[in-house]
Amino acid sequence: MGRRLPEDDRPAAVRQALTAGREAARRLRAAHGPADPFALAARLQVAVSWCGEPPALGSIVRIAEYASRPPAIRLFAESVRAVGAADPSLSVSGIYLAHELYHHLEATGLEPASAQARVTLARLGRWRWESGIPALSEIAAHAFAQALLDLPFFPGALDRFAVRPHPASGAVRGSPLDAETSAP
Ligand SMILES: [Zn+2]
Repeated sequence: MGRRLPEDDRPAAVRQALTAGREAARRLRAAHGPADPFALAARLQVAVSWCGEPPALGSIVRIAEYASRPPAIRLFAESVRAVGAADPSLSVSGIYLAHELYHHLEATGLEPASAQARVTLARLGRWRWESGIPALSEIAAHAFAQALLDLPFFPGALDRFAVRPHPASGAVRGSPLDAETSAP
């Protein structure tokens, strides 16, 4: 857990995170053209697999997760189905795969032209907002997925469809976060 980001700094920090995500997508598209996230994962040598485990883990519901060693992304089938049920026209797996690919770019610094964004994210990455508010790197990853896939909406809005009310704990607070398992 990091320190809390001072309230006054939050709007600027969010703008920087959004810009970092969009810029990374723009660079990737400039290099590879509009890409299918699954093809992009293969090109980046990130293994992608479907996971049949129950997605709930403590207070969060996992939709997808990235591990850096070796680079691998798991998509939680139950969550992807639940989100897809909310809007069958969406390629939910592609959206969350793109999101996780951003975490791969963050973890590996594969983007040669992204030094500025990396500096920003390295600085922002130490900050975590209070519980229930997504970390800035999540905002950047959602912005990356939106720009990569030309989505007309911010894909973080989909997260809530993966959540089902938990009878033992009452209302679910906040939105689910994917559980990043990258090295510290
Ligand atoms: Zn994430």
